[in-house]
Amino acid sequence: MSDAAQPLLSVKDVTLQYPAEDRVVTAVHRLSFDVYPSERFVLLGPSGCGKSTLLKAIGGFMAPVAGEMTLGETLITTPGPDRAFVFQEFDQLLPWKTVLGNILFPLVTGGMPATEATERARVYISKVGLEKFADSYPHTLSGGMKQRVAIARAMAMEPEILLMDEPFAALDELTRFRLDDDLRAIWQQQGCTIVFVTHSVTEAAYLAERALVMQAGRLQQEITIDQSARDDGFRSSRVFAQASAALSQALGFNHESKQA
Ligand code: ADP
Repeated sequence: MSDAAQPLLSVKDVTLQYPAEDRVVTAVHRLSFDVYPSERFVLLGPSGCGKSTLLKAIGGFMAPVAGEMTLGETLITTPGPDRAFVFQEFDQLLPWKTVLGNILFPLVTGGMPATEATERARVYISKVGLEKFADSYPHTLSGGMKQRVAIARAMAMEPEILLMDEPFAALDELTRFRLDDDLRAIWQQQGCTIVFVTHSVTEAAYLAERALVMQAGRLQQEITIDQSARDDGFRSSRVFAQASAALSQALGFNHESKQA
């Protein structure tokens, strides 16, 4: 990201609320941040701090009661194919369609000719390493494979921005590490813009170029993670340890005082 770049996504002073019977739940309070083209941007915070609500609003599924969000020059008011979602749930795929069919579905319903859609779908199936499973049905795949299909489906839409809501949270830790690695590798090839929600400090430290730490619907701190030392050994590097410590501290966990 260069300082001169224009933000792709701008969230300005946004408040998001749910009306309840006798009160209003404020899930996000006067939050502002920018996401730049080709950035890996992570929203980190404990359960209930408003991350999913914020992602829903960026997706156009919920309107702010105050503030505004823009994608490029356009005010976000409705969902659109310029924003694609990947969720945590393994059942986000259509069970009656194959891997190829699932990835084709939004392309064809969006009006892309079948031949072009099939070519594009196969490219993204190969990016997530599932060439041999193109004709398999979701119920025959592992959780990690299903999440790969969901990523391929979202990326194949070639959206302006990919919105990922705890996509690997239901996976075992090693599968999650592998998918984090693969997501970063695909991002390096594609240069897509990603907003990634997680409550995992280590996942945020591993994936983020910039992380917004949230607590109770408010911005706690924005942390930029040094990308210069990235290589295959990043998980055991000093930069990773420092990033994890800074994120933990922003969440209110102080390692030194805990050890004392
Ligand atoms: P996170 O994604 O960080 O776990 P959420 O965005 O899901 O947090 O929730 C933020 C707050 O909004 C929480 O207090 C939650 O209980 C509340 N909330 C979420 N969805 C609803 C809803 N549909 N109706 C009322 N309150 C909700």
